[in-house]
Order: sequence, then structure tokens, then C-alpha cells
Amino acid sequence: MSGILVGPAVIRAGEPDWEANRAIVRAMRAEIARVRTPIGFGFRPERLTDLITDGVRTVLLCGEDGDVTPERTWQDLARWLPVIDAHPEVRWIIELGNEPDIAGVDIWRHRYDALQTLRRLPQALGRPQLQWAVSLPCNLAQTRDLLARDEHGCILDHVDAICAHVYGWYDLGDGGGGDWLRILDLAVDTGRPVFISEAGIDDRATPRPEKARRYLRWLETAPAGVAGVCFWGLGIWEDNPTYELTMEMAYVLGRWETTPEQRTPPTEERMLYGIRGLIDRRGELPRNPNGGPGTRVPLNQKRGVVIHYNGPEVPNHTDSAAAWRQVVNDAHYHIAKDWDEDPTNGRVLSGDGLMYHIAIGPAGEKWLCRDIESVLWHCGAWPHNATALSILVPLGGDQRATREQLIALAEVCDDWLHQGRGTAARDVWGHQELQPTSCPGTLMTDFVLPYRAGTIWEEIHKRTKEEATVADGRFFPETGHYVGHGFWEFWRDNGGLMIFGYPLTDEIEEPDPKAPGGRRVVQYFERAVFEYHPENDPPYRVLLRRLGAEALARNDPTNRNPF
Ligand SMILES: [Zn+2]
Repeated sequence: MSGILVGPAVIRAGEPDWEANRAIVRAMRAEIARVRTPIGFGFRPERLTDLITDGVRTVLLCGEDGDVTPERTWQDLARWLPVIDAHPEVRWIIELGNEPDIAGVDIWRHRYDALQTLRRLPQALGRPQLQWAVSLPCNLAQTRDLLARDEHGCILDHVDAICAHVYGWYDLGDGGGGDWLRILDLAVDTGRPVFISEAGIDDRATPRPEKARRYLRWLETAPAGVAGVCFWGLGIWEDNPTYELTMEMAYVLGRWETTPEQRTPPTEERMLYGIRGLIDRRGELPRNPNGGPGTRVPLNQKRGVVIHYNGPEVPNHTDSAAAWRQVVNDAHYHIAKDWDEDPTNGRVLSGDGLMYHIAIGPAGEKWLCRDIESVLWHCGAWPHNATALSILVPLGGDQRATREQLIALAEVCDDWLHQGRGTAARDVWGHQELQPTSCPGTLMTDFVLPYRAGTIWEEIHKRTKEEATVADGRFFPETGHYVGHGFWEFWRDNGGLMIFGYPLTDEIEEPDPKAPGGRRVVQYFERAVFEYHPENDPPYRVLLRRLGAEALARNDPTNRNPF
């Protein structure tokens, strides 16, 4: 396992979104962050302190795109120095420049300015703990020029690290048609630690969690010498959402393990309530200060777990954003609802907020929705309500939890019970066992009963991987290919692995004289070839190639005459 630090490239932190950005930093367990420091980027020194509080221990401070003169660099750095001085435990790296070729500066001028800065500013600042890096252009020839050695010297003699960017269309490893990967090789060849200060893949059709998984797979094979990667981007401009780092992605990226010696110890934020990977979204849900029950019990009196579901089907329940919208709607509903069970007394008891402590998203997100000390009204079964941890899985009807959801649910229960809050056999309940109701639906057999019997992990591992749906597609690590959209639905609904086998290619285009435009999108599987026929009406848009007929046609000598 590589020792690459993972974190966000903090682009711009809009005032109302900063706490949401911090939640993402915590969920991805970021150990590194890259921050743009020019005043126009709106990032303030106290937010650096927030990032450090949230676990970041390596910071890349990146100033102007093109103007890397000592004067400008000093102007830009001065207001960050108090934070730098207050945190000697942090590795501070000043990154000179940002895509200077894109910024349109003359590369030789840029090189001269950077050399001046690297020779003069470190001495002037008098802070030997500061490290210096140069950011490489996006173009191979200009990168060679920037790193050249001549009578003026060489930038490499003055820097502690190199920064480079890596973008891709579909995967970071495809290089996105640019020089990124060759520049990265060149950076690694310098022997200096390389920080990828921006990385991202363009493909906007890819579901977010899958995109994050591609990032992690690329990290597994990244060149030795890559010391850290900052994924683009946090607080991004809204007109360029393709690269926005979201909570769903952060949750996947948070599973990245760096080497133990580089790992910073888990902070309280990372193990909220002793539960792994809890994403704190308490602040994002509506509350009603006048609602009930408005009471709390000390954590040490808490015991057991009650599992819930929504009842009615949840629209797009395998989509994380849709599931979260459902949770928000539930909170509004619980605030508006009359919780007084006696219709004859005329009293109205409205709720103080969502009546579940934790909700589990379809990609396995563990959303903390309420303080666990809060007593919640829901299942009517006192005293369980006052003491139990209440967990919602946003699904209903005959909908089934995803594999990721079951894993996350089991992890939350494991972590909770292991703190002395009960046993699996006696203290895990479905709502219906405490009060007549159908809640928690399919989760009784999929989760509650096997969990109590101690067989839940066995059950989860027995579930074949193709049952786990990730938005509208799935990546198969077995063969390294992705099945998406209509092909995914067809594959999933018509027999899956048993019938078609694993994908052998991604979607590709092949010449087909019968197709509009003469080309046809196809995908090869172990036992079938899927063809996309947009000219047909559904459900005949995805058709199987008649493999037997084609093979016959190739082998049958009587078939050589076209007729
Ligand atoms: Zn319930």
C-alpha cells in the first residue's frame, strides 16, 4: 500500500458553504489540503485553522497563477504567516505558480521570477520550517523549459517539492488527452517529493461514488514519488460542477488508507460517538425549537438499536442525493406531524426535528442527523425510545437495501454495541417488534434477524456483487470495466452475471452499416455482445448480437455469396 496523502483542493470557500465543506474534509479524512491564497479567492486565514482542526497536516499554499515575483509572493503570504507560526506541527509548502502556460505568462519570465523568489524570499522570511515547491505547467515543452538548467541556475536546486496536475476524461490514468502523465513522470524523475495539487476526471456521466473509486484505484498504481494528491475541488464555481468534490465522493475517498506512520491519529470528529465514518449532517436538517420531546439522556444510559425504514417507496432510493432529500423531507414531516396518539384530547404535539439519530445512504454513507443523546419520538414503545439509537434506512415498499447500506448498518451497530451498549442477540430491534407496524419492511429479514443471529457478515458476503446497485451503473473490478445506463439495466434485469458474464470492454463504437451514422455503440461481455439501437422504441433499444448466427455466417461456405 502506498503512502500517498489524500485531500481536497480548496478552490473557493463561499461563506454559507464553509461548514459543509468542512464536513467533506472530515468525511474524506483529509491529511493534505491545497489552498489558493490570493485575496480574490476569498479564503481566510482562520479557515486554515479549521482545516487543521479537521485533521489536515500538510498544506500547499498556492498564490498567483503567473506572478511569482518575490514582492507579489511576499504580499500574498504575509497574511498567512500568523497561522503558519501557530502550527509548527503542520508541514507548510509554498507552491509557486498555477498552470502558468494556461495563465498565458512567458515561461522564461516565469522561471526567472520563480528563481528570484526562491533565492531571496526564504531568507527574508527567516522561517526554515517553510518548504518551497514549484508548480509545473500543463504542457510538456514548457515544463522542460521551466526546469531547465543554464547560466541563471535551475529551479530544482531551490525547491523541496514539485507540484503537478493530473486530469483525465474517464480515468486519471487516461491522461485526458493532455501531457499530464508525461509531466508527472518528469516530476517524479527529479527525485523530489511530488504533490499532485489538482486531480480530477471530467466524465460527467459517471456516478460520483464511482468517480471517487476510480480516483482510489489510480492511486494504487500511481508512480512512487507521489507524496500527496489534492482532488479538485471544494467550494467550486457552480458553473463547473463536473469536478466538484461531494460528500458522496468524500465518503469513498475517506476509506483510503495511507501507511500507519503517516496516518495522523483519529480525532474526535473522525470517531463521533465512537462510530466509524459518521458524517455529521446535523446542521443541514430543519429543527423546531418549540417541538417535543425536547429532552436528552446521558450517553451512558443509552442502550440498544431500533431499525426503521420509510414505509412508502423512496424515489431513486439507490441514489445518494435522492436518499438525502428523503431524509430532509422526513424531518419536515416529523416537525409538522401531530405525535399525540390520542385523537380525542385535541392536543397537538409537533416534533423538534427528525426522529431518527442516524440515516444510512445507499452508497454506505452514515449520516448523523441528531445528537444521539436526544430522546426521539418514533416507535411509541417506551422506554426503548428514550434509550435506543434510532437508525433510518431510506427505502420502503419492497425496496431492498444496497450491499453498501447493509455493510454500513452492520458497522454502525457493531461500533455502537461494542461500546457496552448492548448485545447483538438481545438489543437490536426492528420497529415492528416493539409496536404493531410494518417498519422496517425488508430490513427485518435482510438485516435485523441475521444481525441478531450473528450471521449478518456471512449474509452480506453471500450477496453477489451484482446485487449492489450504484446509481445507474456498476464498475466490475474483476475485469476492470464499467457497465452503465441502458446496458446496465438490461444486464441487471435479464440475468446478470449468470447469463451474460462480466464486461470485457467498456462501451465502444463499431462500424455498422445498418446503424444511423454507420456506427453502433456496443459492449462485449463474456457470453454476449450488447448493441445500442437508439432508432428503436423501448424496450428494444438494447439488443443482443446474434453471436451464433454470426459465427455460422462466418463458417458456412455457402454464405460467402451475398444475396
Ligand atoms: Zn419505524
